[in-house]
Amino acid sequence: MRADMRPERDSRPPRQDRQPYGEQRGRGRYGEGQERPRYGEQQNGAFDRNGRGERRFQRPESTVDAATALRERVAELGAQITADYAGKDLLLVCVLKGAFAVMADLSRYIRLPLDIDFMAVASYGASTKSSGVVRIIKDLDSDLSGRHVLLVEDIVDSGLTLQYLLKNLRGRRPASLEICALLRKTGIESVPLDVRYTGFEIPPEFVVGYGLDFAEKFRNL
Ligand code: 5GP
Repeated sequence: MRADMRPERDSRPPRQDRQPYGEQRGRGRYGEGQERPRYGEQQNGAFDRNGRGERRFQRPESTVDAATALRERVAELGAQITADYAGKDLLLVCVLKGAFAVMADLSRYIRLPLDIDFMAVASYGASTKSSGVVRIIKDLDSDLSGRHVLLVEDIVDSGLTLQYLLKNLRGRRPASLEICALLRKTGIESVPLDVRYTGFEIPPEFVVGYGLDFAEKFRNL
């Protein structure tokens, strides 16, 4: 931009309708009567914490909010996993296709010399509901015996897919087997699962993007 094209500083008339920060009413995210969350309860509009201090996803106001929240949370999980698995032979197992995005990001936030492997599964039955009958389309290349395995999943809905996978992988005698799920739906009937690392709890709605599809589309959102 040429210097003579720049708008002159402070040339605009002062905005009469602006009130000092904190005194604005009925504008922005928190309207009349709505309490602004305390510091630490909510950041960038995309998550807050439930009663147990776990993060709960809020409908983001924009894809930028969602992307920021995802990146921050995945970084936190990476740091936690780094601390928990220090000195251990860690193998990250990505459950394709949905977990490819979180796997790519999470693995780079884990500061350990880890291994990566992939397995692809499909569940029989209706397209948007898991039936619990899982078919392994691509199996792992690695031998799991004696290894510390962390299963990376995109989303836990009924939990049936993971229940099947855990049973299958436990039979391969890993030293440990834990789950990291980016999203976990709440308020639905699900099988009891011990998910060691959860990114966000979300309401029981169908979600797409960041690896999750609708009829194989929108994984790239
Ligand atoms: P579950 O067996 O826990 O009911 O379902 C797990 C699998 O179903 C996930 O790995 C994912 O592939 C798919 N799934 C469950 N909920 C959703 C959702 O909201 N959106 C998308 N795109 N896939 C989902």
